[in-house]
Formats: sequence, C-alpha cells, structure tokens
Amino acid sequence: KDFRNDVKPNWCPGCGDFSVQAAIQRAAANIGLTPDQLAVISGIGCSGRISGYIKSYGLHGIHGRSLPIAQGVKMANKDLTVIASGGDGDGFAIGMGHTIHAMRRNIDLTYIVMDNQIYGLTKGQTSPRSAQGFVTKSTPKGAIEGTVSPMELALTSGASFVAQSFSTDLKDLTAIIEAGINHKGFSIINVFSPCVTYNKINTYDWFKENLTKLSTIEEYDPSNRELAMNTLMQHNGLVTGIIYQDKERPSYQELVHGYADEPLASQDLQLGDEMFNDLVKEFI
Ligand code: SF4
Repeated sequence: KDFRNDVKPNWCPGCGDFSVQAAIQRAAANIGLTPDQLAVISGIGCSGRISGYIKSYGLHGIHGRSLPIAQGVKMANKDLTVIASGGDGDGFAIGMGHTIHAMRRNIDLTYIVMDNQIYGLTKGQTSPRSAQGFVTKSTPKGAIEGTVSPMELALTSGASFVAQSFSTDLKDLTAIIEAGINHKGFSIINVFSPCVTYNKINTYDWFKENLTKLSTIEEYDPSNRELAMNTLMQHNGLVTGIIYQDKERPSYQELVHGYADEPLASQDLQLGDEMFNDLVKEFI
C-alpha cells in the first residue's frame, strides 16, 4: 500500500504539485488500493510529471490527451482505479474538448487538475485560467481574454462529481480525492496548486485570502445543482469542497450494451493467428 517510488520530483521547491502527489498517494492508501490496482495517466506540463512520481501503473502522455488515454485504460480494464491528471493549460486549453466529452460521458475515473493559472513548464505564459489583465511574457500588456470557469463548465457539461481544493489543505484534498475515487462516475477535482516561480499574483497568501470553504456555508447541499451554480457565481468560483455530486447517475460502463463483467484486458479474445492476420490486413 505504499505508493512512493524512488524517483525524486524535480518540481521547484514550494510548488503546489508536491501536495497533490502526496494527497493522491494517501488517498489510494486510505482506500486500501495496492499499486497494481491504480493507473495514473498524465498530460504535459510540470503537472504531467506526477505519473512518474507515484508507484502505480502510469503513462506520461501527450499534451491535453490524458483523458482519452485514461478512458481507454478504464474501458480495457474496469477493475483498475484510474486517475487522469494534468494542468490548467493541459485540460482547459488544448485538451478542453476531451474534458467536456469525458464529463458528459460520465466514465468512471477521477480527473485531477493542478490549476496554477499559468504555463509553468514553458517558463510563464498566460493560460486559459489566467485572469483578465494578467501580465506575462505572452501578454506583456495584460491578458485580453476572460478566464475559463472550470467548475461552472463541469456543472453544465454533466460531470457527476465536481470538487475543488487547495494544495496546502492536505487533509481536505486527500478526503476529496478519496471521495472522487469512490464516486461511481466521472469526478473532476480542480486543485489550486500555486506556481511559486512564475505566478506572483495567485500565491499561497492570495488563495488563503480569497478562498471560501463550502463547509462554512450554512446549509450548503452538494446534491443541489442550482445551488452549486449560484454559489460558484457568488464567489467567483473561489470555493473549496465538494461542489456537486449526483450519486444516482449511471456511469458510462453501466450503460454500454454488452459490457462484460470480466475486464476486457483479462479476457481471452480467441484471436487465432489467422484471424489476427486478417484483422491486420485491413490496416495495411
Ligand atoms: Fe511548479 Fe511552477 Fe516550478 Fe513548474 S515552474 S515546478 S508549476 S513552481
């Protein structure tokens, strides 16, 4: 149940991604998983390195494509717990189409976004999560475009588990990841994970001043989608906790006609040499 490996992360000291890594490892251990029951699939960006830092099956894929790969892994082996991960550029820019379709599909996996509101790996350009007016090398006079609102987007795209957290709240973040993994359907967890090197606006102190915990809002009910949307709008999206959960909606796998109880990965597909060669011929 130990999800640590020997690889030393090369994130900058103080990067928020360290806590996300620790929270995933703790959540998996708390649930009682073993490393061979977990697959972590990541995209490109500083956040994308995370799949190499967790003892599990893993794949460091291509930019914005962690979700298609993760969905394929889950469909091939439904017995694996699958976590897809990436940054805000990965998930809300180049990978945005995949994010929306995975949410409406409600496939049973957990998507963790390390949202630092900047492109860190390429040394600090504006991301779709940077605020209007944000000054970087790519927007020296300030970003003109407005920002993507990932949690509002998730609510309107049909995600059945929508949550947000802050990387310093390790206990809360671990509990939310556990809840996301245990949720039967698609869970998106947006984690404010500060980039201490390039984002000098959205710092740890900035988040501490601006975030509101949903647990402090009286009578907040995560099963009420309308309340969830209104609360997000009132707080400009800056809330942490489980924002919305629909426990009744069936997952994609449950609705696929003829999807076998036995994972595809462990079935004998009985493809003899002849049949295999015929199949291959179709592609050459
Ligand atoms: Fe983290 Fe930013 Fe350093 Fe990347 S550049 S490792 S996001 S602090």
